[in-house]
Amino acid sequence: MAELTPMMQQYMETKKQYPDCILFYRLGDFYEMFFEDALTASRELEITLTGKNCGQEERAPMCGVPYHAVEGYLSRLVSKGYKVAICEQMEDPKLAKGLVKREVVRIVTPGTNLNIQALEENKNNYIMCIAYFAGKTGISVADVTTGDYYMTEVEDNRKLLDEVMKYSPSEIICNDAFLVSGMELDDLKERLGIAIYSLEPHYFDDDLCRKCLMKHFGVNSLSGLGVEEFPNGVIAAGSLLSYLYDTQKIPLSHFTHIEPYLVNRYMLLDSSTRRNLELTETLREKQKRGSLLWVLDKTRTAMGARMLRSFLEQPLIHKNEMEERLDAVEAFCSNPVARDEIREYLNPIYDLERLLGKVSYKTANPRDLIAFRNSMEMLPHIKTVLKELPGTANEKIEQEMDGLEDLYLLICDSIEEEPPITIREGGMIKAGYNEDIDNLRRAKTEGKNWLAELENAERERTGIKNLRVKYNKVFGYYLEVTKSYLNMVPEDYIRKQTLTNAERYTMPRLKELEDTILNAEDKLCTLEYDLFCEIRDRIAGEIERIQTTAKAVARLDVFCSFSLVAEQNHYVRPVLNEKGQINIKDGRHPVVEKMIEHDMFIPNDTYLDNNSHQIAVITGPNMAGKSTYMRQTALIVLMAQVGSFVPARQAAIGIVDRIFTRVGASDDLASGQSTFMVEMSEVANILRNATRNSLLILDEIGRGTSTFDGLSIAWAVIEHISNRKLLGAKTLFATHYHELTELEGKMNNVNNYCIAVKEKGDDIVFLRKIIKGGADKSYGIQVARLAGVPDMVIDRAKEIVEQLSDNDITEKVQSISIVDGGAPARKQEHYDELDLEQISLFDTVTDADVLDELKNVEVSTMTPLDALNTLYRLQNKLKNRW
Ligand code: ATP
Repeated sequence: MAELTPMMQQYMETKKQYPDCILFYRLGDFYEMFFEDALTASRELEITLTGKNCGQEERAPMCGVPYHAVEGYLSRLVSKGYKVAICEQMEDPKLAKGLVKREVVRIVTPGTNLNIQALEENKNNYIMCIAYFAGKTGISVADVTTGDYYMTEVEDNRKLLDEVMKYSPSEIICNDAFLVSGMELDDLKERLGIAIYSLEPHYFDDDLCRKCLMKHFGVNSLSGLGVEEFPNGVIAAGSLLSYLYDTQKIPLSHFTHIEPYLVNRYMLLDSSTRRNLELTETLREKQKRGSLLWVLDKTRTAMGARMLRSFLEQPLIHKNEMEERLDAVEAFCSNPVARDEIREYLNPIYDLERLLGKVSYKTANPRDLIAFRNSMEMLPHIKTVLKELPGTANEKIEQEMDGLEDLYLLICDSIEEEPPITIREGGMIKAGYNEDIDNLRRAKTEGKNWLAELENAERERTGIKNLRVKYNKVFGYYLEVTKSYLNMVPEDYIRKQTLTNAERYTMPRLKELEDTILNAEDKLCTLEYDLFCEIRDRIAGEIERIQTTAKAVARLDVFCSFSLVAEQNHYVRPVLNEKGQINIKDGRHPVVEKMIEHDMFIPNDTYLDNNSHQIAVITGPNMAGKSTYMRQTALIVLMAQVGSFVPARQAAIGIVDRIFTRVGASDDLASGQSTFMVEMSEVANILRNATRNSLLILDEIGRGTSTFDGLSIAWAVIEHISNRKLLGAKTLFATHYHELTELEGKMNNVNNYCIAVKEKGDDIVFLRKIIKGGADKSYGIQVARLAGVPDMVIDRAKEIVEQLSDNDITEKVQSISIVDGGAPARKQEHYDELDLEQISLFDTVTDADVLDELKNVEVSTMTPLDALNTLYRLQNKLKNRW
């Protein structure tokens, strides 16, 4: 068999080291792929497959992409789950002797894609490492574009799945044990689009992992990092870091710290609850519009948007942390003018976190630095406004926010206002920043003048009237003296060439000028490049300061956003308590109220506690609004624990440790489970993992099976939850089994509510108001009629229902005795009797109200800012009439 060409041998050697990657092999202006890689890439990228002579009989299949457009192709491949190794030319091919030296400089994987255009700016692109061990599994998560880096441990697969869902990483790296852990890997891959790679065992070596972390953070022991209580977390974090070193091949200087956390430091939300509550995307379309994030996100910066998303993904459970956030929001609600001013300053702020990623990867270009400078310009203004605001939360943000004046001045002084994107071709360093650069630039433009000056000066000095400075390619610049003046040539002239009629000379000053002029362009580009890198490195040296500032900006942006949303949607500050009491007056669903016609949403109260109002059984026809009501309660609690104001007239929120939802029947065909199976496994999870401090939203438990089985399961579930020795969680339980309303009399912590409807002949009118008491009918046939089911079917259904009601099960239900039952329920006071004809909408503000308020304003004692804020509020009242 013929030998491969030397270049192909080099290719094969390199490819051998990266067998699991597609190798992008740099050849001039292209990255070429060969053999299998070429077949795969041409198919996936839809690019033409050609061939190259490789020294053997058959040509090697080949395809290529131009180097200047490589990012787009890379992103397409990694988004399909491939890894790509970038092999660069390490020397100038023009200067290389023999074969050009090449090396793999970076491996791009789904979780390490740096192409910001291809990534969502409002979302982190996480890579997660799972070190699966019996007992406790270590988890570590990082975003290479921002330097965020976390670690934790979980005890079981369910919690592991919760963390996966929380971060929704684009890539998981793991040990082999994870592959056989029983987790639904196909589901993670297919449904969630996560690329999963198992790494070789040495990555998970305890000792190596510890050393890797210590070396990276420059510490002698791990105790300083606060990670010691997470032995398996350390393994995950260490293996993630070594994987990143191996693939990114840079010092990862933007990974300045690691944040260890206990999963129960935040409210626990399992994957189906996250989905059901539509926190960041809708259940069906997977879109932001229609989610809670859509309503709450009025952030101005990408960093703020990412932080808001992470707030929603991990609500707090510690009261003081929530209060701190709420204080900050309140300060902005009372100072809307200051808030709006800050929001103006936030507008031009660039994605500082991702800029730091670029600085660390040395890919930040001069335009990035100008954007960085424009961002920094805003910081002192923001700090000034913050200083005048009350409250420790804003004070803390002000202190964390570094004005970065030194870096601002550095860029102001050094980088041109409108620099080019490229850094190799000069034109980016400002005049006056560096003397050598100024001289070189002058040499380029003023070189001719200098030579003319020299010519004149030499004519004068020597008296040679026709002395000329001339240039040719071979000899460069020279002084030409005709034969007749040779006797006047001074001693410091050095002969270069003799012609028939003239002599050509040089001299030290001319040599100097020649040097400057001829090399100016090249030297200028090199010097500008070096200086730019130096400036970029100086910024890299301040990464921690910038990172802290970026996080402060993000928090500020989130609080301003919460405050604006609260104002626009008339939210109130929740009053938090640790006694487990949830008392919401006129609560609304934050998303549904935005989706329906203006002011048509009917507010409702909720009262739950750990005593006589622990479980609310809610009945009412389909479409009445049961799901909306229950979700709105869960969302209001969650919003409060995130630090946001809430859609209600008043809200006392007893902090919950977890929210569980079991909402509607969602078929999970992808994972091969039937509707009822999914429903029951969710119920099992809730009953096993909920605590007395949890909030449960249970919608239609037992619907997926026969009536008797379903009703019995639903009954037994309520009994179990209501028993404080077993569970005792606060629960909203919606059901069509109106037989369950019997429980109110049998257990002292169960109460019946229903959503009011009015019957008009054969039709029903939805009043959307929750009232005390149970529905005695399901109104299913009326709803079917409203939905347009043919009259013939409706009439027949009515006949059948009449016959069935002869065998009513109510009597049997009434005779069931309660296991460990309690005293009959007391009379409830929390819901006022409702006149069903009069559904109260929002109270409307009249002009007289505003005038009254204006009359009572104490102008003489107001600060100018107070006056502005009051004016703003009054105007808003008139505009919005609230
Ligand atoms: P099903 O039992 O069929 O699931 P449901 O009782 O859970 O029905 P929802 O899905 O909550 O009913 O509500 C149906 C529709 O009614 C919602 O999409 C919404 O448009 C409207 N709706 C619900 N609650 C209210 C309200 N409080 N004010 C105004 N409209 C409401």
